[in-house]
Amino acid sequence: MSSQIHTQRMPGLQCPRCNNFIPTSIHELLAANYLRCPLCGLQLNIDRQQSEKALKALAKVELAQKQVDEKSTFKR
Ligand SMILES: [Zn+2]
Repeated sequence: MSSQIHTQRMPGLQCPRCNNFIPTSIHELLAANYLRCPLCGLQLNIDRQQSEKALKALAKVELAQKQVDEKSTFKR
């Protein structure tokens, strides 16, 4: 079973068992091998090969957010 990784708005996965949306950080998605649904406890393995595109997109989003943060930090 494959899980869709949402790249819009809040990053996260939808639990295939209870349909609960599991919010996660981009860092967690990139670093972790699995996520656990807080509602039903289902363990979701992250298929890196299948999710590579989405993970790369998320990494891009993270990079863009970092650049925005830096810009706003240096704004005087
Ligand atoms: Zn669940």
